[in-house]
Amino acid sequence: MSDNVKAIFSGDRCLSCTACMAACPVMAAIKDYRGPKLVAPAHGRLHFSQEDIEESLNYCSNCKSCDRACPSGVAISTMIMLQRAEYYKRNSHIRAEDMLAHTERMANTVRSMPFGVTLANIGMTLGQSLGVFSAMGITDKRNLPAYAEMSFKDKFPTIAQESSEKKVVLFTGCYINDNEPQIGEAFIKVMQANGYEVLIDREFKCCGSPLVANGFLDEARQHADNNVARILEWKEQGIPVVTPCTSCSLMLKEEYYELFDDEDMRRAGENVFDAFEFLEVLQQMDEFNYDLNDLNQKLLYHVPCHLKSQAIGLPAADILELIGGVTVKTANAGCCGMSGNYGFQKDKYDIAMKIGAKLFERVNKKDFDQVISDCHTCRIQIEHGTKIKPVHPIEILAQAYQFD
Ligand code: SF4
Ligand code: SF4
Repeated sequence: MSDNVKAIFSGDRCLSCTACMAACPVMAAIKDYRGPKLVAPAHGRLHFSQEDIEESLNYCSNCKSCDRACPSGVAISTMIMLQRAEYYKRNSHIRAEDMLAHTERMANTVRSMPFGVTLANIGMTLGQSLGVFSAMGITDKRNLPAYAEMSFKDKFPTIAQESSEKKVVLFTGCYINDNEPQIGEAFIKVMQANGYEVLIDREFKCCGSPLVANGFLDEARQHADNNVARILEWKEQGIPVVTPCTSCSLMLKEEYYELFDDEDMRRAGENVFDAFEFLEVLQQMDEFNYDLNDLNQKLLYHVPCHLKSQAIGLPAADILELIGGVTVKTANAGCCGMSGNYGFQKDKYDIAMKIGAKLFERVNKKDFDQVISDCHTCRIQIEHGTKIKPVHPIEILAQAYQFD
């Protein structure tokens, strides 16, 4: 069984208050899930010392709403992910889980082949209509995201930048690198406007969030060790690591340490910032560039669960409201239901859509100019549920710094 005693023993602090159950969107959507209190602090402690596993834990989407609700600081979702890893030591993964957990490996394979991106994008559409993905356990009710022609890392050397003594390392995460490189470009525009040069580190691996969620904990540990060593090297040089992806920032800042209980992971986490959190640091240091174009836009902001879990407030909303004519209203409609790759799984699709219904209803009021969200899978889910395409808040800020 797992040796993360710190997380497992946090269950002893449980007061049986059931706040986690009231906060769990999956429990509200289906009856079969026994919920965070029973799966984690209650049954979890027994299952960590016995051979059997509570199988309904596979319904957990790792949204972390339970952790935020718990008044006793029980590491609920971490206990569930540790148990899920135990479950997969004795049970095989289905093909969908393997595929969805290894998005980085898939993208690298695709990009290593001639015309790989074009063929993969055609193949994804065909595979869906021919039922190939469905046979693997991936829903055929939504499209898998298309690959960008060129990855951000390949594009990076061609992006012109003013050099500066002030530098940050951009951790793109898989999605910005392979699917939406324009978000990385927007980040560079914003950092350049604030006097920073952006570096990348090609040795970074996927943060490991999809590996953890699908029970590949040993592989996630390898990614964590690699990334933590790189972050600590940058830390020694006084260069922060910044990411516009909220699931990556949560993983690098907190989840590695909570899952693997390694002091280096805690130290590395101190050198990682969410993109807008870092911009607020610049404000505090009187380094923020307030010279912004007016944009006159009403923005509806869906706050990702993994941003809420960082307990850093709403830095994107605070910064975007500095732009003349911009108002930011939070959607206030709970979890979107997508939770990483959860909503791509055939047996989870209906649950994900049921959870997202309140948000879709809110977005469908259409009382705004644009929807924004810092999490790519939230954006995918909102577009799927409403046909309205949201953008990343950094893209709005980059527009405000664009003067030509
Ligand atoms: S992580 Fe989310 S889905 Fe899992 S138990 Fe907690 S609230 Fe429920
Ligand atoms: S919210 Fe925390 S203390 Fe309350 S039942 Fe859940 S785990 Fe126990």
